[in-house]
Amino acid sequence: MKTIIKSIYDNYRNFTGAGKVADYIAPLANVSADKYAISVCTIEGEKYNIGDYKEKFSIQSISKVLTLAMLAPLTGEELWECVGKEPSGSPFNSLVQLEYEKGIPRNPFINAGALVITDKLLQKVPDLNNRLLEFARSLAGSNDIDFNKEIADNEYRTGERNKALAHLMKSFGNFNGKVSHVFRTYCNHCSMEMNTEQLAQAFLFLANKGINPLNGEQIVGYRDSKRINALMLTCGLYDESGDFAYRVGMPGKSGVGGGIVAVIPGKLSIAVWSPELNKYGNSCRGIATLADFTTELGISIF
Ligand code: GLU
Repeated sequence: MKTIIKSIYDNYRNFTGAGKVADYIAPLANVSADKYAISVCTIEGEKYNIGDYKEKFSIQSISKVLTLAMLAPLTGEELWECVGKEPSGSPFNSLVQLEYEKGIPRNPFINAGALVITDKLLQKVPDLNNRLLEFARSLAGSNDIDFNKEIADNEYRTGERNKALAHLMKSFGNFNGKVSHVFRTYCNHCSMEMNTEQLAQAFLFLANKGINPLNGEQIVGYRDSKRINALMLTCGLYDESGDFAYRVGMPGKSGVGGGIVAVIPGKLSIAVWSPELNKYGNSCRGIATLADFTTELGISIF
C-alpha cells in the first residue's frame, strides 16, 4: 500500500493547471494550486500519509456528511419527506429543480438539501456549532479542528444563491428556522478546517459499520452507515457522481476547498486534497488519485 500511494503521489506531483481553485468564496482563492496530500487509514489502525497532509484546508461540503451523520440517529423516516435520496443531475447550488419539485431538495448533499439538514438539526441541537466541532474532533481523534471565521463570514456575506435556496424552501413550507440563523450555521460548518490525516480518520466510522474505531463508540447504526455510504456513492460528487463511481468505485464526498474523502466499507478511508476544481466543483487531481488508488490496489466496492 505504501509503495503504491508513493508512486501515485510522485506521478501526480506536478499535475496542475487542469482546473481552477474556487474563488466564489474569496479566501479560498488564496490557497496555492499545488497543494497535494493523501492520507489513508485502515480499520486495523494502519495509517499512510504523504504530501501536505499536516496542512489544514476548508472542508466545505464534506461537512454535509458529518451533519447528516449527527441527524440520522435523532430522526426517523419523516426526514425523507423533506429531502430526497436521488442524484440531482444539476449543479450543487441550482435553484431550477427546487422550484419545480416544490421545495424538496433531491438529496442531502446538494446545498439545498444540506440547508434542510442544518435546519432540522438546529431544532434538535440548539448548540449545534459547538456540538459539531466536538463530533468532528472525537471522530478525528484530534482537538485541533475549528471553523475558519474569515471564510464563514465571507460566505455568509456573499452567499446570495444559498440564501435564495433557503427562502425558496421556506416559501414551500420546507424550512422552519430563520434563514439568516440557519445559513450562518451552515457557513460555519462549511468553513471547518481539517487536514487529510484528520479527515481520513474522521470518516473511518463509515468503513466500520458506523463505529468509531478509535473508541468503539457507535456513531450511527449499521443501517444508517449503509445508507450514508449509498448517498455518498450516488450523490457525493454532485453531477459527477456517476463518473466518480465508474472511475473510482468508492462512496465519496467532495468539497470546493479541494478535498475528497472516500471509504471502502470493511477496509479503509482515504482523504485527498488538491485545490484545483473541474467544472462540477470537484478536485481534478483528487479524482485522478482515487481512480489510480483503487485500480492499482485492486480494491473498490465493486
Ligand atoms: N459552502 C459551499 C457552498 O455552499 C459548499 C460547496 C461545496 O463544497 O461543494 O457553496
